[in-house]
Amino acid sequence: MAAATMMLAMTATSPALAQGRVSVVRDAEIETLLLDYATPVLKAAGLNRNGVEVIIVNDPSFNAFVDGRRIFINTGALMSSEVPNEIIGVIAHEAGHLAGGHQHRLREQMARARTMAIVGGLLGAGAVVAGSVSGNSGGASGGAAIASAAPSMAMRGLLSYRRSEEMNADQAAAKYLSATRQSAKGMLTTFQRFSQSLSLAGVQVDQYQISHPLPRERIALLESLAEASPYFDTADPASLIARHQMMRAKIAAYSGGQAAVSRLFKDRGSLAAKYGDAIATDLGGNSAAALKKLDALVAASPSNPYIHEFRGEVLLKLHKAADAAKAFDKALKLDRSRSGLIRARLGVALLATGDKHQIDRAVDELGRALQSDPDNYAAYLSLSQAYGASGDIGNAELAMAEGNYRAGNVKQAKIFAARAAGKLPPKSPGARRANDILTIGK
Ligand SMILES: [Zn+2]
Repeated sequence: MAAATMMLAMTATSPALAQGRVSVVRDAEIETLLLDYATPVLKAAGLNRNGVEVIIVNDPSFNAFVDGRRIFINTGALMSSEVPNEIIGVIAHEAGHLAGGHQHRLREQMARARTMAIVGGLLGAGAVVAGSVSGNSGGASGGAAIASAAPSMAMRGLLSYRRSEEMNADQAAAKYLSATRQSAKGMLTTFQRFSQSLSLAGVQVDQYQISHPLPRERIALLESLAEASPYFDTADPASLIARHQMMRAKIAAYSGGQAAVSRLFKDRGSLAAKYGDAIATDLGGNSAAALKKLDALVAASPSNPYIHEFRGEVLLKLHKAADAAKAFDKALKLDRSRSGLIRARLGVALLATGDKHQIDRAVDELGRALQSDPDNYAAYLSLSQAYGASGDIGNAELAMAEGNYRAGNVKQAKIFAARAAGKLPPKSPGARRANDILTIGK
């Protein structure tokens, strides 16, 4: 099964990469989990001084890279990794390159390239409107939304490391893993898989392999490093494994529907299998059936914030906005990371109730969501709608100006900013911001 997934990843072409674009997934559950994987390792590497951001790339092939402040990981890598330790190992290896100063100049360039992301639709199914938030009224309607990021870089070959750098990164990675009392077994498993699929697949090689050369001597070194660690047989904590499976189920449901979920989980009765099934049921068009499945999942696992979150999405689709708001509220309270993504959806649900008394709270929640997560483009649209519903047209225009500006759509941003400046009280913070946007680039 894992081999099949990997082979699929090996042979899949990547339209996103061919266009020099990175398609980004925003999802509270996956982002939080990956931060939990990365944070201790980066701390051990002395790399997380300014906070680290995890970017999930919507791409079925296996890839991961780090540009200093940001870790990019493909959905393909997440889905094909059977346990957290495999992804943690890849992060440790990338951190090794970073700490070693490998390809420093290229990393700097990458870090400057703006992750220009515009929310377009659902992972795997969304039509992405690059460079434009206006006209995209749908926004993110699911837990996972894709966006188009356009740092103009073809990642294939961008970070091609020398063999000596690979061994150096492996050694550093083993050190970070030991320092955090984790096994290097996952890192070994991942790279062994690559070396095996390379020989099986002949010429078809993956971008990760191209950029991280895998000579036989490197596998031998990895083996000795992993086995020398006192933590070689240390397993991931059970709670982390459970979250990893939930993540894989979600990605499977979004990328391949019911069939992909069934392929991934032999045990149909597991929580993750049922979670994937519920998501796939909704994405397949049967939200009413999905709601029943989610009700059962909430009963089975009442403190999982992301089941509540997805339930909120389904309720919104079913036009039960007040219930959706309650579900998002619950999700937000349970979510340790207090994700701005969930808060924004709470705001959307409050607005969708059509209840006048909820509009102020919708504005408030959306504003707070954007404060913690200013790159959530769909939330600007919703904030604009919420201001519009409250009769505050000046701030509605300003929210559109800000969203377009953040999306790199400066021309549109200035049009909205001009309208906002004409409506907001002079010298108010909003009017000042509108004028800032108007004078940018002049
Ligand atoms: Zn490498």
